[in-house]
Amino acid sequence: MEYVKLKAGALFDGVRFREENPVLIADSRGVILDLVPESEAGEGVQKYPGILAPGFVNAHCHLELSHLKGLIEEKTGLVDFVCSVVATRHFEPEKIREAMTDAQHQMEASGIVAVGDICNNLLSQSVKSEGTIRYHNFVEVSGWNPAVAGMRFDKSREFYETFKNQGFSTSMVPHAPYSVSRELWGKIAPYFSQSVVSIHNQETPDEDAFFLQGTGSLANLYEKMGIDNSFFTPPGVSSLPSYFPYFSRAASIILVHNTFMGAPDLAYLEQTVEKDQRVSLCVCMRANLYIEDRVPDLDLLSRSPFNMVVGTDSLSSNYELDILAELKTIQAHFPQISLEKLLGWATLNGARALQMEGGLGSFERGKRPGVVLIENTEEGRLTSRSVSKKIL
Ligand SMILES: [Zn+2]
Repeated sequence: MEYVKLKAGALFDGVRFREENPVLIADSRGVILDLVPESEAGEGVQKYPGILAPGFVNAHCHLELSHLKGLIEEKTGLVDFVCSVVATRHFEPEKIREAMTDAQHQMEASGIVAVGDICNNLLSQSVKSEGTIRYHNFVEVSGWNPAVAGMRFDKSREFYETFKNQGFSTSMVPHAPYSVSRELWGKIAPYFSQSVVSIHNQETPDEDAFFLQGTGSLANLYEKMGIDNSFFTPPGVSSLPSYFPYFSRAASIILVHNTFMGAPDLAYLEQTVEKDQRVSLCVCMRANLYIEDRVPDLDLLSRSPFNMVVGTDSLSSNYELDILAELKTIQAHFPQISLEKLLGWATLNGARALQMEGGLGSFERGKRPGVVLIENTEEGRLTSRSVSKKIL
């Protein structure tokens, strides 16, 4: 058998930096065989400056929006952002596929090995089949008007079944609390049982205002779109408790953004989550800065018992789909969070959220997690010059 033996300035194994800085031994396909001291590694050890880490997991992306790079105005707030995406997203399918292929190549080269990807159509199917990234497809359902629930559900179920038949790990998920009617929730909820689900959660301050009092920019949005909102009685609670019980049978729940999530929401989650459920809080900070110019309170969120993960969101609200760029931005806003913690969010935690930890996320024997080299770090911290690349 051919062995690949790798050693760098430091090794992060998915959970922690290994003090002894061992040599990583894999087979030529990248299956991890062992971590051993250099004195026992024998000949042919390839040495690098930098940090070795398992492949990154991008827990939240919309590959199908890659063609919108640079087209959507920054810092307008969520409602204007959503309206711009809806108005701008229609391009020739070939152009959309080209942009997706480029974006996928960049993700692969920078060390992303798995993606939780939101899908509103089937355009990404052929692109994904040609790449090396492992995807979990979240077929997204939306429709605030109760009258369209049946039609929207039927269309999404068709996409869901097509992806499943293609062999993709796939689930059907709600877009956001404010864009799914109770009727539509009722139709998709049976599909959550034992599956991985995700939802855009508390991305704008007006989301809570909408559920507490029925006011704010989301109420205005429906007025603007000509949707009669008179059926809606605000439940008088914040956004999260208004919908979370629908997920009571899901196995893994990824709450995305959480920019305006507060201590009472976290306390509610702690009381409500079942013992056998995993809740992940997905941080997409560069998208939050792009859209709302705000960042989530990571001091608060990272002290919670929930699984912290990282996502890039799409190229409609980001400059690149690059996990290391996300970690640099988090480090710039929250310098007290260690690189060891951040790398855990981006590797094993992400794999767990997508239920891919059996093969990805850490340097454990038998896994094939990919090997990433992070260069240009300084005293255990990322710098503006830090880069990541997949080396195995
Ligand atoms: Zn998103």
